Amino acid sequence: MDAIKQKQTQLYQSIVFCDFDGTITEQDTLERVFNKFAPETWQPSREDLSSGKITVREAVTKTINSIGSSHYDDILDYTLTFSIRPGFEALLDFLESQNIPMVVLSGGIRGMVETRLGNLINRMLSVFAADVDTSRQYLRTNSAYEGKTELVDKVRVMKFFNAKQKVAIGDGITDFNMARAADLVFARGRLAGFMNENNLPCESWSDFFDIRDHLQAHFSNSKQG
Ligand SMILES: [Mg+2]
Repeated sequence: MDAIKQKQTQLYQSIVFCDFDGTITEQDTLERVFNKFAPETWQPSREDLSSGKITVREAVTKTINSIGSSHYDDILDYTLTFSIRPGFEALLDFLESQNIPMVVLSGGIRGMVETRLGNLINRMLSVFAADVDTSRQYLRTNSAYEGKTELVDKVRVMKFFNAKQKVAIGDGITDFNMARAADLVFARGRLAGFMNENNLPCESWSDFFDIRDHLQAHFSNSKQG
């Protein structure tokens, strides 16, 4: 059995599914990359996305496909300038002490996620994001888990994992389905607004210390109860 299959058939007590852009990172790294490397494609795509003419998958694919492959290394270097939200390592320390794995679910580019996470990647159970083919003149996306509207169908990926409790952490509209498929949701930004508008329960958070503290209390209560 290969390593990924083994991770997926194991039964976990809890798993944390965490978005990357605007969640682990303070800024939306993909949007910043698009504004810097492909503004002429991204700006109109963004408008079409806002007005509902195209999906996130279409807007992101179109923009990535307009970037010359020769820029890929510059994009990865630029990714290193984005800051990680405070408390991320403290949350990982806590999760490891409880044997709770984290899976990163990103609708962005794997190379960017891996570059920014650096050595922290070894502390993740898995990272799901879109791969990019740099062998042609322009970048091409290649996502094994592409959904109808997103480059990575987060709910589909969540179903690969077997856990009694699924925790979701996110910030954006593209995390809404992931949040609805989770038992406990930490939402900030537009995701929090969306959850509230739909009368769905969620915990608000501003940095990862908040999440660690909440989970610490949550798990000590459930052990007592
Ligand atoms: Mg996000």
